[in-house]
Amino acid sequence: MKNIYKNVIIYVAIFAVILIAFSFFSVNKDQPAKINVTTLVTEIEASQVKAIDVSDNELVVTLTDNKKQTLQKEAQESLSSLLSNYQVTPEAMKKVAVTIKNEEGWKFWAITLLPVALSGLIILGFLWFMLRSAAGANNKAMSFGQSGARQFTPDPKVAQISFKNVAGVKEAKQELLEIVDFLKHPKKFLNMGATIPRGVLLLGAPGTGKTLLAKAVAGEAGVPFFSISGSEFVEMFVGVGASRVRDLFKKAKKQAPCIIFIDEIDAVGRQRGSGMGGSHDEREQTLNQILVEMDGFEPNDNVIVMAATNRPDVLDTALLRPGRFDRQVTLDLPDINDREDILKVHANKKPLAEDVNLRNVAERTPGFSGADIMNLLNEAAIRAAREDRKKVLMDDVLLSIDKVMLGPERKSHILSEQEKKITAYHEAGHALITHMLPNSDPVRKVSIIARGSAAGYTLKLPSEDKKLHTKSEFLEELAVMLGGRIAEEEIFNEVTTGDSSDLRQATRLARKLITDYGMSEKLGLRTLGKKEQMVFLGGEGREERDYSDKTAEMIDQEITRLLEEAAKLALKVIKDNREYLDKIANTLIEKETIEAEDFKNLFV
Ligand code: ADP
Ligand code: ZN
Repeated sequence: MKNIYKNVIIYVAIFAVILIAFSFFSVNKDQPAKINVTTLVTEIEASQVKAIDVSDNELVVTLTDNKKQTLQKEAQESLSSLLSNYQVTPEAMKKVAVTIKNEEGWKFWAITLLPVALSGLIILGFLWFMLRSAAGANNKAMSFGQSGARQFTPDPKVAQISFKNVAGVKEAKQELLEIVDFLKHPKKFLNMGATIPRGVLLLGAPGTGKTLLAKAVAGEAGVPFFSISGSEFVEMFVGVGASRVRDLFKKAKKQAPCIIFIDEIDAVGRQRGSGMGGSHDEREQTLNQILVEMDGFEPNDNVIVMAATNRPDVLDTALLRPGRFDRQVTLDLPDINDREDILKVHANKKPLAEDVNLRNVAERTPGFSGADIMNLLNEAAIRAAREDRKKVLMDDVLLSIDKVMLGPERKSHILSEQEKKITAYHEAGHALITHMLPNSDPVRKVSIIARGSAAGYTLKLPSEDKKLHTKSEFLEELAVMLGGRIAEEEIFNEVTTGDSSDLRQATRLARKLITDYGMSEKLGLRTLGKKEQMVFLGGEGREERDYSDKTAEMIDQEITRLLEEAAKLALKVIKDNREYLDKIANTLIEKETIEAEDFKNLFV
């Protein structure tokens, strides 16, 4: 493709030169005066003419004083017959040197070729323009089959990413150590008759460090790292994906041992034939090509394909067969110790003030992924820099937690007095119930400053990461979720559109209790609905019904019952503690935000 570009440019340049030259020659600098035949005849008779050059229909007349004049004659008529028609005497003519120039030279060719050349030029120009705009629409359109994979070759001078840079995920690192060993000492394994694994699938929620870990494996083994995203395979033209895969694997094999990292493999690796998400023909071809390439590895090729996804449930089973991505490594969200470690890794290059307690930060960030934690410290550093401080304070970090969790504060979102009051009571409802119920976590912060899409928020502080939850915890959780709405109703005898997400969340939780955890006596100890595997990764997934219509009805009834029960509990707490509810709401109206300590003090 590049060559065509080059050619087009050369053609255009040549034609431009010809055009310029042509106009140069045809327009003489001091243009000779145009005369008519009568003038010429007069001049000849007056012996003022020295010479006449005849070229085609043009006569160039040179006068005795070397002045030039031109005139046109008819094409068919010769000069001599013309002059004799005007009765110029042969005597007068004798003094004139007549030269007949055959003008069939460049001018003739230029004139005959010019229209052809011009139209050719226009067509070429048009073609060029089209190609260019196509390329503009999709930058990679011109590099059709090339994989566009980014390659990172180990450079001993640059500090490599190693397992040291990846905190937590101990089991995953343990698993991958083996891969590092394969890459470093393939002989050892081949001599034992072992086949080297070809594919490793990294499963984990976004930001849990899948890319980082793959790079670390390459870094540890000191091999090149090719990285491409599944979505990059699927592009403008059909059939491109497959040829990109071919190209990528070819490049990689040349550099073996090495690692190919395919991010978001679910973009191409979806169940074939499911026809979801359009253009699945293209995806299928791409996927097939990946499988073909992986099957085609020689035992000693020593190229290991690592792929990442957070949707293992949608992957084509063919990908998971032995000899393909048969190793699967799951990355969980970090627990409190891992979070502390990740914080340490990222705090490394940031000047922290003495008061920063990373353990404390880890305690306050349950549910944060590695990427969230990196983001958190980055926000804190930005805050410190904006205020021209030399060090990052604990306050910077704490305030950034809320920002990362809920989006930036929207201070410009101005509430009317009434709205403020309603929001205050709504949040006070959530907070009061959280505080009062025995199984709920303590309140960390209540605020009526809008953040992200929420008008206000109540944050709880789980003292530990719990893996097991009891039914009573869940019921209380439901009561907390509904608490905002119930408080509004109790105080204002009216409900607002307020937080519809509260209701949606509560409904979803209630449904889960019944269908996933078997926590409804009525429906018994069974799961309802076939979830597509691994809900823990946060994907809701499609659900397949494996129960009757009658059961569906019962589920609905049970959801309603659970929610009603929770609402009753919430209402009771609010009625019993009305004075505290007012106290919290009024403090919120006055101060907008209450921190954990001050909140506890409201109850003494
Ligand atoms: P994923 O590929 O799983 O979406 P990434 O590997 O791109 O996540 O992680 C994004 C960033 O988050 C990384 O560059 C790294 O800085 C940080 N990060 C994630 N997990 C960890 C971890 N376990 N230790 C240190 N940093 C991490
Ligand atoms: Zn709410």
